[in-house]
Amino acid sequence: MNFFEKMKQLTGVDLNDVQKQAVRLTEGPLLLLASPGSGKTTTLNMKIGYLLLVKKVKAENILAITFSKASAHDMEERFELFFGKLTRDRVAFSTIHSFAYKVVREYFWKNQINYQLIEGNAPEQLHKKVMIRNLFTEQMKTAPTEDEMEEILSYISFVKNRMVPDDQLSKVACSIKSAGKIYQAYEAFKRQNPQNLLLDFDDMLTYCLDILQNDAEIRQKYQTLYDYVLTDESQDNSVVQHEIVELLAAPKNNLCVVADDDQSIFMWRGADVKKLLQFQQTYPNGKVLTMAQNYRSTKEIVDTANVFIKRNKNRYDKTMFTENRQGEKIEIHNMRRYDLQLNYVVEAIQKAEKPKEVVVLYRNNSSAIRLVDLLEKKDIPFYMKDVDVKFFKHWIVEDILNFMRLSYNDKRVDILERIYSKMNAYIKKAQIQQLLRTEEDASCFDRLLKNVHAPYQEQALRKAKKNIREMNVLPPDEAIQLIRDKLGYDKTLINRAEHLGLNEENLLSIVSQLEHIAEGLPDLAAFANRLNELEEIMKTSKFNKNENVATLSTMHSSKGLEFDTVYMLDLVDGVIPSKDDVKAYKNDEPEKMEEAVRLFYVGMTRARHHLELLTYNQKDEEKTQPSAFIEDVKKIMLGEKVGELKLTDRVEEKAPQRAKTTITNKAYQQKKVRDIPEDAIKDARDLQRGTLVQHKVYEQGFVKKVDGNEIEIMFD
Ligand code: ATP
Ligand code: MG
Repeated sequence: MNFFEKMKQLTGVDLNDVQKQAVRLTEGPLLLLASPGSGKTTTLNMKIGYLLLVKKVKAENILAITFSKASAHDMEERFELFFGKLTRDRVAFSTIHSFAYKVVREYFWKNQINYQLIEGNAPEQLHKKVMIRNLFTEQMKTAPTEDEMEEILSYISFVKNRMVPDDQLSKVACSIKSAGKIYQAYEAFKRQNPQNLLLDFDDMLTYCLDILQNDAEIRQKYQTLYDYVLTDESQDNSVVQHEIVELLAAPKNNLCVVADDDQSIFMWRGADVKKLLQFQQTYPNGKVLTMAQNYRSTKEIVDTANVFIKRNKNRYDKTMFTENRQGEKIEIHNMRRYDLQLNYVVEAIQKAEKPKEVVVLYRNNSSAIRLVDLLEKKDIPFYMKDVDVKFFKHWIVEDILNFMRLSYNDKRVDILERIYSKMNAYIKKAQIQQLLRTEEDASCFDRLLKNVHAPYQEQALRKAKKNIREMNVLPPDEAIQLIRDKLGYDKTLINRAEHLGLNEENLLSIVSQLEHIAEGLPDLAAFANRLNELEEIMKTSKFNKNENVATLSTMHSSKGLEFDTVYMLDLVDGVIPSKDDVKAYKNDEPEKMEEAVRLFYVGMTRARHHLELLTYNQKDEEKTQPSAFIEDVKKIMLGEKVGELKLTDRVEEKAPQRAKTTITNKAYQQKKVRDIPEDAIKDARDLQRGTLVQHKVYEQGFVKKVDGNEIEIMFD
């Protein structure tokens, strides 16, 4: 019995001709460029088995590189399943970072250079983030906000991974003006002491490449050791990663690169598909095989996804098809409100016969917070992939807790110091410093009242004092409402967003989420506890990995995986595509939009049988619009061809000439409405058709419709 027959018998997978060809083609460079679900990972695994069992290659002579730890693990599992019983040999599936680290360690040891890691578990004072924060502050004369930190970190990682030369640094888009300078200062700082280098994770890659290029001994050692080099998901490799792989495989060049350019979703981290598309230039004798048959999903899903991805211009043209059955229709649910979407998904998970076969996908980690809250309340276990608990550390969370703390004891200057500039009491830094200099057993507000800097501050301080004291008897969700409206916190956020170039909706959505988490809780202690609890629940969900529970994951982290049922959440305009995606697109920079299309495509193609796309028209008090991509899917399902769909037109169409906002009377009376200056609208009941209103952001507008609780205002 030959290898393929044996594998068919053992695993039930009957490789097709191209797959077999790819397995057999062990010598020389091979690019396997293929659609989702076409068996790339399966083929790669079979190829490793073939090398071991048929070509009798030793396991240690094979290097299999994956992008993330999770996919390395996934590969190991699949290998075990296929070949566990056939061979005792175990190939090391390694991430590119762990491989690079090995090379770096070896080189440093050989040359007696000390080094220190400044990422991961590095101590606080020696952490990359702290260094970058300091360098940012030095350059910009002000400390970075959370979002700026994220921006600068990703800029640094991007230029490093793309190996951008110094004179090109300013050409890499970044909203932080001195990003290039900060990067250079950071690089210099790490090399300050040549006998004790500081290294972050990306440095491992650049150092590794440098070592392989310049240390012939080490290079030859690895080149001799590895007779075969294989990489999966190579569309997400950065320039430096590609170069490491190429160098390791040389000069034998028994290199198997597996990729799908349509699933490249890490461009923002420096991934570069161009490199892949130049494969034949790099290796004139290399072979490129393509596979378009999808074995994973129903025809309904494959055909829809296939048309969907074709609107991207920058891609290798391929047409994915399947011989699988037609299957169920893709379901699109447009809910009236966000919370209905949440209930819907939770109920679906609860009812699922095999929860393990269900995945809930979202673009942003923040989408998971309220979902987790609800799942936990209903006692529904889940597994969360690549847990991210940044939310709980956000400065907005700290602010809200500090407001609440102050309400318990308004003598605490140290607490007021952290939030005074975020409320509408016109408190100046000098006033706080004054309070800090002296000690007095009295309310901070009373102390401030003794020395106001302007007559209007007196009234503001009295109001703030009253409001903060009132808060202490309120349940935490109402306390948050009070902070947002009466203490002006929402306005603060809107201002900060405007001045610091942050995303206003993201900021407001964080407070809204807190408000919802607080619902039904008795007091501050319970609220603070709940936040800790949620963070813990997320972190410990990893122990559920092998249980029969649903998976929650970002679209990014779902790469390579498959499930019977996929729910894609929060598919609204502004999330996917995001405002940034659309803005860049309108500026004739389609890359971000194309990446969002690919991300959506990755999500859809995870489903074997059942795919549901979920969207809604309202979240908190804000109107939302279904994602433009949902509109596309609808059209595709109605049989429209690609050519008839013009993303440009639709995006333009959506940009409103006149902004429209809807507020609810009831909400206004509860002081829940944001943005509407009190001096513009004295009493919501006064509003009638035609009333002119002045809005802080949208400026002048008029009331178009008053309908029960809803008021529609048109702004110029
Ligand atoms: P992705 O791009 O999403 O990573 P992929 O190309 O790596 O997908 P695989 O995960 O290897 O695809 O395979 C998808 C599914 O198709 C798996 O369930 C696999 O077992 C099945 N499959 C692959 N090849 C065949 C085949 N020749 N016959 C039957 N099933 C197959
Ligand atoms: Mg795969």
